[in-house]
Amino acid sequence: MSFTSRPAFGLPLVNSHTHAAMIAFRGMAEDLPLKDWLEKYIWPAEKEKVGADFVYENTKTAIREMKRNGIKVFNDMYFFADDAARAAEEEKMLAVIGEPILDFPVPGSETPEDALETAEKLLIKYRGSEYVLPAVAPHSIYTVSAENLVKAKDLARKYGALYHIHLAETKYEFDECLEKNNLTPVGYMDSLGLLDGKTVLAHCVWLTDEDMDILAERETSVAHCPLSNLKLGSGIAPVAEMMRRGVNVALGTDGAASSNRLDIWEAGKFAALLQKGITSDPHEVSAKEAVKMMTVNGLKALNINELNGRSISDIENEIDEGGNYNYLYELNIENLI
Ligand SMILES: [Zn+2]
Repeated sequence: MSFTSRPAFGLPLVNSHTHAAMIAFRGMAEDLPLKDWLEKYIWPAEKEKVGADFVYENTKTAIREMKRNGIKVFNDMYFFADDAARAAEEEKMLAVIGEPILDFPVPGSETPEDALETAEKLLIKYRGSEYVLPAVAPHSIYTVSAENLVKAKDLARKYGALYHIHLAETKYEFDECLEKNNLTPVGYMDSLGLLDGKTVLAHCVWLTDEDMDILAERETSVAHCPLSNLKLGSGIAPVAEMMRRGVNVALGTDGAASSNRLDIWEAGKFAALLQKGITSDPHEVSAKEAVKMMTVNGLKALNINELNGRSISDIENEIDEGGNYNYLYELNIENLI
């Protein structure tokens, strides 16, 4: 006798936040806080190694791994975005892709002006592409000035593109923003007019109740990355509370250098279990809700209304009618696809 059904799993998994080419740095720096991980290991390695060919080759490797894990769409932020886009087109994988914008020299861009120019070229080149939805991707509020954050949003608005940024990932970022601006990270972005239905915020671990209400009101989606947040000791995002307040929460793996696997199935299982753990309430984030976070919430976050002829509501109805999704806790995705 079995208590879990095993329906044929044809649901499109969505990776709502990643840096695909960072698969090359998997395992390079482990058991470190975000600041040390970035400043002492990742940024120096990127300076030395990252170029157009590196991004093209490693994005292809990452796409193949994501496909094996049932992922049909991913939202990428990485340097030489044009080469990541080329990889996605060749692999016939639907991807939202944005060139990162930072205030200091990074691979491919000496200045934020260079990065904005590259971002605009990407928006023009891939307009109407079958596989690539070009986006604008300022890195974070602690690496990009208010002026450049706004310029990036203006650019995104000009082309109707998604605005993809890391936000409120660590306590350090939250405290620093509060000290500098007398506002929370969400409050700060809102004060600059950056929050709307075409903004996706990766992480959002550190939020006040008021922040969550602002996100719900602005229809701004969150890409929750539980594995990355746990491994870097960043904390646990208040996902159950966000959802209760009406925020659309999707799931991301983050780059394979911080979460090690490009596996949304694993992220969904962790997302559900973590909320039960931190709220001491097993009702929080049911298996079915986690499956929605892994699929339709991701499509909503990325402003993708239809996938292979199926609308978001078709897919959502299919999940609602699917009944028992408890196999999320039991099976690996390989058993289902
Ligand atoms: Zn990230």
